[in-house]
Amino acid sequence: MGPGDVERGGGADGITYTCQICGKTCTGYPRSRYCVQCRTTVRRETQRKSKARVAEKQREDGVMKQRGTGERPSAPSLGQIAVRARAQHMSYGEYVAKYGI
Ligand SMILES: [Zn+2]
Repeated sequence: MGPGDVERGGGADGITYTCQICGKTCTGYPRSRYCVQCRTTVRRETQRKSKARVAEKQREDGVMKQRGTGERPSAPSLGQIAVRARAQHMSYGEYVAKYGI
């Protein structure tokens, strides 16, 4: 194995290790497991996953909040219709007939 096999910028200070993803031989620190390229990829992937996890959590929270109210904005409940009808001094039947709910 000659100097040409060692990753550029390595040098005598580091130890030689094999990237656990692509199998490339690199020189670096004893704790290193991946080459520079794969390390960057792994880090990006980890960030992407953690962001996706946060987004999913927020989505779940939103669903929970919607379920918590028990009301869908597009479909007013009978109680809501009755309140609106009363506010306009109409009966429930008159309100439904007028607004077609
Ligand atoms: Zn690699």
